[in-house]
Amino acid sequence: MASSLPPRGSYLENAGTARREMGLKVAPRRNVLSAINNGGAEAAPVVEFSGREDVERLLAEKMKGKSKNDFKGRVEQMSDYIKKLRACIRWYMELEDGYLAEQEKLRGTLDAENSRHTQLEAQLSNAIEELKAANLDLTRRCENLEETLSREKSEKLIAAESYEKEMQERELAESSRDLLTVDLERVTHDAKRFSEQLKMVQDTNKRLQEYNTSLQQYNSNLQADASKSGETISKLQKEKSAMMETMAALRECNNSMSSQLESSRASQQEAIRVKEELRKEVECFRAELKQARDDRDHSVAQLNNLNIELANCKEQIGRSSKECESMSTKVSALEETCNTQQDQIQTLQKQLAVATEKLKLADVTAIEAMTGYEEQKEKIKYLEERLAHAESQIVEGDELRKKLHNTILELKGNIRVFCRVRPLLRFHGDSNGLEGASISFPTSVESAGRAIDLMNQGQKLSFSYDKVFDHNASQEDVFVEISQLVQSALDGYKVCIFAYGQTGSGKTYTMMGRPGNDQKGMIPRSLEQIFKTSQSLESQGWEYFMQASMLEIYNESIRDLLAPGRPNSFDMSASKQYTIKHDPHGNTTVSDLTIIDVFSIADVTNLLEKASHSRSVGKTQMNEQSSRSHFVFTLKISGSNKNTGQHVEGILNLIDLAGSERLAKSSSTGDRLKETQSINKSLSALSDVIFAIAKGDDHVPFRNSKLTYLLQPCLGGDSKALMFVNISPEASSVGETICSLRFASRVNACEIGIPRRRTSTSI
Ligand code: ADP
Ligand code: ADP
Ligand code: MG
Repeated sequence: MASSLPPRGSYLENAGTARREMGLKVAPRRNVLSAINNGGAEAAPVVEFSGREDVERLLAEKMKGKSKNDFKGRVEQMSDYIKKLRACIRWYMELEDGYLAEQEKLRGTLDAENSRHTQLEAQLSNAIEELKAANLDLTRRCENLEETLSREKSEKLIAAESYEKEMQERELAESSRDLLTVDLERVTHDAKRFSEQLKMVQDTNKRLQEYNTSLQQYNSNLQADASKSGETISKLQKEKSAMMETMAALRECNNSMSSQLESSRASQQEAIRVKEELRKEVECFRAELKQARDDRDHSVAQLNNLNIELANCKEQIGRSSKECESMSTKVSALEETCNTQQDQIQTLQKQLAVATEKLKLADVTAIEAMTGYEEQKEKIKYLEERLAHAESQIVEGDELRKKLHNTILELKGNIRVFCRVRPLLRFHGDSNGLEGASISFPTSVESAGRAIDLMNQGQKLSFSYDKVFDHNASQEDVFVEISQLVQSALDGYKVCIFAYGQTGSGKTYTMMGRPGNDQKGMIPRSLEQIFKTSQSLESQGWEYFMQASMLEIYNESIRDLLAPGRPNSFDMSASKQYTIKHDPHGNTTVSDLTIIDVFSIADVTNLLEKASHSRSVGKTQMNEQSSRSHFVFTLKISGSNKNTGQHVEGILNLIDLAGSERLAKSSSTGDRLKETQSINKSLSALSDVIFAIAKGDDHVPFRNSKLTYLLQPCLGGDSKALMFVNISPEASSVGETICSLRFASRVNACEIGIPRRRTSTSI
């Protein structure tokens, strides 16, 4: 967007070029000065303006040479000067057009910029809204995720804790298992030892039993020995008896034998005692064996117990390992969930990162948009400044234009005379052109459009005016020439435009015209221009307020053409007095006169229609519908500029005078005669006033007629007047035509009003 606009400096350059284009059409500035210095004596130089100074210089230029009576010289000088001023005005108008065009352009650009700007703003705010919403959503999601994350983390922590506990327990179980295994080993070892001991004890037992049996054998052997010994004894006793004989001899032997027995008895006792001892020993062994058996039983029981314990331990271990397994499966499940959650967290973190990135991007775009916005703002400011500058230039130009415009009008004379010849009317039977009349229009460069020749009884009469419109001149052509005067009313001047001429010469046609766009007269056109211009000036801060009134002066009395419910005929007995009063500020009031605020051309058109129906008409030979009264349309224009604080009060008077024909021709009598006399009196009062002002008389006879008295503030001073002299081309009207032309010439020679420059230079 920035590239579509030229850089800042180029606006000024463009403006400068535009001004140069407008200003430098032909010659350099020197031409103006030389033209002025030569007093315009040479053939009209090409006048060129290149700046304000030239204009100021032109304005400051003084009339010189030429005595007061050298009218021709003065007129030439004047016309030169007027040409220059016209050129100057044209230049200003072009400049103004340029400024207006530029202003329009700038305004257009500004509008476009503004609209684009608002659009951009709306878009931006939308984007920001969206981003905000997205951001909110994401932060919410992020919070949720963080919450779940923390929850998961705590769960994980709990799981890890329980896992740790499980591990500890498992370790504990393992250590106890180890302990038990050690115990078991020891017990097994003990059992083995015990079984070994048992074996040993059994061996000993066996040996002891063997010894016992051997001892029992020995005992039985001994008992067998003892019985053998008894038998021996009996044999010996029998041998004693046998030997008793031998006893004496054997007594001795007996004694010895008895001693022997005694000793075997001792040895038997000894053997019993050994047997007893052995029995004791066996008993002891038996007790020992029993003890060993008991020990073994105890050991076996212990072993059983230990086995049971071992089985228990094993069971416990199995359970522990199962628990361990379930724990580890749980742990792995938890780890899995943990992993998945970590994955989730990671994806969420990624999303978060993406969102943050997006947010950053949005921030960047927002910043870009903001900078764009700032740039736009600056541009707009710059454009506004340029616009203000252009506007101030326009205001300046406008002021200068007013000044120049006024000067030109002053130089033209504050009263100007335009002559208009109407075409021959069809019903006269004449063909087109002006065959019926001896009127001709000189075509020399000097007098083209400004002179009229009239042949009367072989004598050529020449007249020249500010402007002569021939029969071909359209309403538009005529209006172009008076539009500047109408503009003066908007600029705050008092303006009178009169239509003078004999009945049927085209006064009403000129002032009011006929319905239809081409045929509209000066009054509707002036009003259109005023409304149009006042509207266009609104952009410069001007606000206009307008009031219209319409009256006619018939037989020296005023009639309100806009009075509500007014009867069609003229009512002399009307209670309304319509007295004219002037205040020191140059404001005129007519008591009881209807004044209507108008805001559009349509308002005024209605009023004009109403007024034309109310206008007094009377029958004369000359003209059936001839209006025998002066018609005065007054538009009060008050404008104020809220920007510059200026205030203007202008008045536009448009007057359709009553027919100027002389008495003899109308050959009226009675009422019509009185009418005609009163009309002639008021017309001559008007010319008297004009001539008195022109001559600078102390006394100006404003009070000689109602019309002049009514228009007093608008005649003289810095007011402007224009008189259309309407001419009928018919040969039969030549007498009246000559009268009208002479009257116009006399008025044309007048300069009423004080040229502004002599009093003050301000507007
Ligand atoms: P004024 O404004 O001069 O008092 P009006 O404008 O009211 O008179 O009257 C003009 C009327 O007179 C027109 O309708 C026109 O047709 C008629 N008229 C003007 N001149 C002639 C003429 N020479 N012959 C016949 N009718 C004429
Ligand atoms: P006045 O008001 O002076 O009496 P009018 O304005 O009524 O005269 O004009 C008389 C007649 O001539 C009218 O019919 C009018 O339309 C016609 N007329 C006057 N001037 C022109 C003109 N310039 N072109 C065409 N017709 C005209
Ligand atoms: Mg008329």
